Amino acid sequence: MAAQTDVSTTADTTNTVTSPDSANPVDLGPAAALSCRECGHRVPLGPVFACEECFGPLEIAYDFSAYETEDLRKRIEAGPANIWRYAPLLPVPADVAEKPNINPGWTKLVQADNLARELGVTPGKLFVKDDSGNPTHSFKDRVVAQAIEAARAFNFTTLSCSSTGNLAGAVGAAAARAGFRSCVFIPHDLEQGKIVMAAVYGGELVGIEGNYDDVNRFCSELIGDPAGEGWGFVNVNLRPYYAEGSKTLAYEICEQLGWRLPDQLVIPIASGSQLTKIDKGLQELIKLGLVEDKPYKIFGAQAEGCSPVSVAFKAGHDVVRPQKPNTIAKSLAIGNPADGPYVLDIARRTGGAVEDVNDEQVVDAIKLLAQTEGIFAETAGGVTVGVAKKLIENGLLDPTLTTVVLNTGDGLKTLDAVASDTGLTATIRPNLDSFREAGLAS
Ligand SMILES: *Cc1c(COP(=O)(O)O)cnc(C)c1O
Ligand SMILES: [Zn+2]
Repeated sequence: MAAQTDVSTTADTTNTVTSPDSANPVDLGPAAALSCRECGHRVPLGPVFACEECFGPLEIAYDFSAYETEDLRKRIEAGPANIWRYAPLLPVPADVAEKPNINPGWTKLVQADNLARELGVTPGKLFVKDDSGNPTHSFKDRVVAQAIEAARAFNFTTLSCSSTGNLAGAVGAAAARAGFRSCVFIPHDLEQGKIVMAAVYGGELVGIEGNYDDVNRFCSELIGDPAGEGWGFVNVNLRPYYAEGSKTLAYEICEQLGWRLPDQLVIPIASGSQLTKIDKGLQELIKLGLVEDKPYKIFGAQAEGCSPVSVAFKAGHDVVRPQKPNTIAKSLAIGNPADGPYVLDIARRTGGAVEDVNDEQVVDAIKLLAQTEGIFAETAGGVTVGVAKKLIENGLLDPTLTTVVLNTGDGLKTLDAVASDTGLTATIRPNLDSFREAGLAS
């Protein structure tokens, strides 16, 4: 299967920054090499992202051979209450927790009994992994935290990215704290909340007249040009490192369930990276003996207005046909998802599915989650909760099994999605008669 990485086929596979010399290899902990997902070709760790043999995406290959299961479990449990408790399983140096970083992760796994009742799920079986609790209020802090360690190792001085909004904020914040210049690129018409929450950290924020896929193409050009020399693009030339951050969601979910695998997970899809790396993380826990090996199902969630993977899944195709996004779920609006084919593989291999919901269902799901569990999700969370509901109605998701639905961002960033649907119950004069007239008395 050919990888659909537009970035890998249009840009130089090497960066102009000097790669670390082989006599003095970079220290990225257990990360041993980069390995091609398609052909297995291995290259030394460096700021490269596409295979020189077949243009397939590179990912981190580890050497975990020194670990003994119980020692590793104890080491993790004694670690900090953030993603660095899993440093032995990530491409970061052992002393990572002591470096200036925004230290995301260890977000709440909420047992969602009220939502379960509404959706017809057995009480005690439904959980929301609430990643709105990260420093910049989305899951993107996890991936940026990894990328920044790689940027340090490769001596980049500027951090950059193409972003649908959340990544821009995460890069801005992490760069500010770690002392990097940041210059990030977003579609010019993003939600006001996303723009403010990216700009406030003081880095350069550039709006591109076009959609995310145009922004991404532009970044690929910049990487091959002297204008982008010395720049680490977290989701392009640092993508192999960046992507590993999503594994921490898998680790946390299992540890928070008492070192058990959930039976079913509902995960949003933008580029598909998060979903594929959560699967990778679960597989690693099984191989390391940290959880019991048993089947689990992975379900992918998209918005109907940007549903290239869901369409391919339902049609039984291996190839993902690009779409032009048109949905309120802008953080998921990637019309040409790089990891789309891998998402299809994982959904099919695990017996899961990929489903989509329309914008109205997204808004209803945001309100349902807020009104049952007190969690205000951004549109991406509306997509996963909405898809979970639809999958239960379809009979694809078993309501009697342990299910984890991801909320990957904070509703404060996408207020517009629900603004027209919410407001004051009443406006009254400051006296009891007026209160009673409004029909609010007990
Ligand atoms: C980026 C993002 C995702 C997932 O992105 P992938 O590209 O699929 O890894 C999910 N939710 C939110 C809110 C995001 O910002
Ligand atoms: Zn290859």
